[in-house]
Amino acid sequence: MIPDIEKASTAAIKAFQEVQLKTLLGYLNTHSTFYKRLFETENIDINSIKTLEDLAVIPTTTKDDLQQFNDDFICVPRHKIIDYVTTSGTLGEPVTFALTDNDLNRLAHNEAISFACAGVEQKDVIQLMTTIDRRFMAGLAYFLGARELGAGIIRVGNGIPELQWDSIKKFKPTYIIAVPSFLLKLIGHAEQHGIDLNASSVKGAICIGESLREQDFSLNILSKKIKEKWDIELFSTYASTEMNTAFTECEAQQGGHHHPELIIIEILDEFNQPVAPDESGELTITTLGVEGMPLLRFKTGDIVKAHHEKCSCGRNTTRLGPVIGRKKQMIKYKGTTLYPPAMHNILNDFNEIESYIIEISHNSIGTDEILLKIATSNPTDHFLQHIKDHFRAKLRVLPKIEFCDRKEIQKIQFPKMSRKPLMVIDRRS
Ligand SMILES: [Zn+2]
Repeated sequence: MIPDIEKASTAAIKAFQEVQLKTLLGYLNTHSTFYKRLFETENIDINSIKTLEDLAVIPTTTKDDLQQFNDDFICVPRHKIIDYVTTSGTLGEPVTFALTDNDLNRLAHNEAISFACAGVEQKDVIQLMTTIDRRFMAGLAYFLGARELGAGIIRVGNGIPELQWDSIKKFKPTYIIAVPSFLLKLIGHAEQHGIDLNASSVKGAICIGESLREQDFSLNILSKKIKEKWDIELFSTYASTEMNTAFTECEAQQGGHHHPELIIIEILDEFNQPVAPDESGELTITTLGVEGMPLLRFKTGDIVKAHHEKCSCGRNTTRLGPVIGRKKQMIKYKGTTLYPPAMHNILNDFNEIESYIIEISHNSIGTDEILLKIATSNPTDHFLQHIKDHFRAKLRVLPKIEFCDRKEIQKIQFPKMSRKPLMVIDRRS
């Protein structure tokens, strides 16, 4: 199930997107208070924007814009809104996303072609190990996508390894959707309770939230740990509420595929200029076919690298490599640029580390400092040295490291109302 446009030539894909872009600009100019105002104040004649390159004349949209002018982004009257989704805003207040009936159909289609990338077929059964409620979009998208594809779906929700295994035994899912570090918990539970992992019905996992691979697409430490014990295929999927679109890996597992019928992507540098083809930059998106709250040149805050060569699966669309980090969490440290995921990857290597938190701050001379607070079953100098050596070898720089009480770290990790544990505390702003 590969849409024809995804197998078309690069030129045909571009021409197709330019037609869609024209439709979008007309729609925004009629229905979006925010973009109509932007076109007026910036003196932009939307009829002069004909190619993807022409997009560069339009200022980018930021998360702060969404938060400050939330209602001005909504393009439909209230009675057309079916589903309300929220995301945490950068300035505190959550941002509301309004989805219409058409948007829910679009979301279903998006997730269906995304599942198809990972090889999911109508005959498959998927066990959903993420939440579907709490005003999240992801769980709902998975449900709708499975339904569109005709695949079965078991909504277990997140956590509770015992219930997950119970459900795996009972309903025999062939795929699971989970955060990769939760797969380690499932493995741990199976080992403790004599469940034969490799005799289970599960053949693949669609993984969200954490990277599975290094930038060269080799397995990172987390996925090596999973694969060592549990021989299943791991597919990465990357998505966000703002994008209304997922980038999911195919069987080649060489980055998440772009679906050009759903979204326009740009990779921009810090001056909002396109980066060279082999460089990383901030993913900037323009949604196609969204009715409730379409976005034009929205800066996602995620630093990624795009890969443009044709894929062995037959799709000729751009693939996005693992998210290198959040732009806001970029750290300038001892002459190098570094993002927290690189540190997560190193720390995940140590079984003795029970939990940790990365604190970033400005020091008295205005440069960045990194402090790793680690709770461990082995708080010895020898182990500390071992961690330090690992950092020097892998990152070539060494942050400050402190052993801490596990309870103290947990208190920092779970502030009130947090949806997931904080792994990074940024005290710079
Ligand atoms: Zn592919």
